[in-house]
Amino acid sequence: MAKLLILESKQEFQKTLLTWFKKHQRDLPWRGIDDPYRIWISEVMLQQTQVKKVVGYYERFIKRFPDVQQLAAATLQDVLKVWEGLGYYARARNLRKAANIVVEDLDGVIPNDYSNFRQLPGVGDYSAAAVLSITFNAPYAAVDGNIKRVLARLFIMETPINDGRSAKLFQQKADDLLDLEEPGLFNQAMMELGAIVCRPQSPTCLVCPVNTFCQAFQAKRQDEFPLRLKKEKAPEHQMVAGVIYKGSEVLIVQRPLDGLLGGLWEFPNGRIAEDETAEEACIRYITEVVNLSVTNIKYLTRIKHAYTHFKIVVDVFQCDYQSGEVVLKGLIDAKWVKLTSLQDYPLPRATHKFLDKLIL
Ligand code: SF4
Repeated sequence: MAKLLILESKQEFQKTLLTWFKKHQRDLPWRGIDDPYRIWISEVMLQQTQVKKVVGYYERFIKRFPDVQQLAAATLQDVLKVWEGLGYYARARNLRKAANIVVEDLDGVIPNDYSNFRQLPGVGDYSAAAVLSITFNAPYAAVDGNIKRVLARLFIMETPINDGRSAKLFQQKADDLLDLEEPGLFNQAMMELGAIVCRPQSPTCLVCPVNTFCQAFQAKRQDEFPLRLKKEKAPEHQMVAGVIYKGSEVLIVQRPLDGLLGGLWEFPNGRIAEDETAEEACIRYITEVVNLSVTNIKYLTRIKHAYTHFKIVVDVFQCDYQSGEVVLKGLIDAKWVKLTSLQDYPLPRATHKFLDKLIL
């Protein structure tokens, strides 16, 4: 029988988990520090992203922007360039915006109270709880996907973890379980347990430090949890992109700041309509979004890329500038650049997939 998490065994659970964490936690660059700026950056990067991917990005980001003042002073392009490839670019844009607010309105001091910190752009319940508990030992339970999974198994929770309506329930369970003396360490311990022991597939229950408390393990049902709502299959969009050459330069355009890949640079592109060929679509987009006429259009390559909610298949064409002045539609900037300068601009991963096909 799993030990019920009544007060006495709750304290036993907390003690057992913390003892395990202090001994087995991974050595990560944001561990063992209490600098709110660095903890904040790490927590934002860790959202939706695996630790092993984050480590390198975190180290480069902190090297380039070691404090909130330097982040606030950076251009959006600099910030996006360091973030390039990490995805979910709104996180980077919001961090820079929030850094500006901290520097301009809050004397450069990151708020140590929940309501003020939570008001900064991009800060949600999870980041506020994680940053404030880890940095200031504030008594807030952080609930991310890892922690939801652990809770769902510990308590045999029959609510799907990806159902928005279940958020409150998971938060209540986490609040109830939180160690109020060491909330920061406890939150990290729960995350670590989810990441390295109570993994999505094949949790290593036999060596789990809290298996005597776990209702799913005791009932041999750990593989049944967490429950999930079935996701719709991600749609696949057929797209085209056009690399326009003008002498030794190509035209790149900047996406609007809000929305997917906001602020990144790319080649003019769009979705192919049902009644047109890829080549026709390419010419149409170039006319529509940058107002140019092109000639010598040639097929270059096809790439595929998956985003969280959809996939794209992009036929890439190259062509030569023929006439017209650039007039933008739905974009915020455009530049003629040498291919060798493309690396100075933050580009989507999908664009990186065909850069080596371009002729220098
Ligand atoms: Fe997760 Fe297994 Fe530990 Fe339960 S016993 S918390 S299912 S690893």
